[in-house]
Amino acid sequence: MPKAIYPGSFDPITYGHLDIVERAEKIFDDLIVGIAENPGKETLFSPEERKEIAELALEEESIEVSEVITFSGLLVDCAKKYNRESIVRGLRANSDFEYEFQMALTNRDLAPNTESVFLMTAGEYSFLSSSIVKEVKNLGGDIGSFVPNVVEKRLAEKFDLQE
Ligand code: ADP
Repeated sequence: MPKAIYPGSFDPITYGHLDIVERAEKIFDDLIVGIAENPGKETLFSPEERKEIAELALEEESIEVSEVITFSGLLVDCAKKYNRESIVRGLRANSDFEYEFQMALTNRDLAPNTESVFLMTAGEYSFLSSSIVKEVKNLGGDIGSFVPNVVEKRLAEKFDLQE
């Protein structure tokens, strides 16, 4: 059974991400979640915070993965380091397709033996993103149907700190 990595920013992790993790675990029996440190992308939480929040969210939802890691540099190099043959990505409505297609072809060029696997999100999460969650929370809205309690708590703390 091939091993997989599910990479992303996870800033922070949402029920949409967790839905993809659960779907991926039906296909792969060894899945790691990889938190990208990409310095070019501005994030609300540091890589270490995103890792900790992801671990707590997985625990709250009783979802087990092999490991949550942070990585910098090329995803294909990280996949190689952790012996992952497959890269899992989630697809929402239609907004993700072009970007994911480009990334998958680039990664295939860089690492021909690594295959990208795309999983469709559940309909209820198809418009959910970390950005929307942050925006709604920052404006005082209820995000209880978008993220586990621990994520909502950490967002509340973060925005309080910034005020
Ligand atoms: P990135 O910056 O790498 O796109 P994200 O954390 O935004 O990181 O997303 C990581 C992966 O999870 C991507 O494949 C993205 O399409 C997918 N994803 C994000 N939100 C959802 C969702 N609501 N449903 C399904 N997949 C999602």
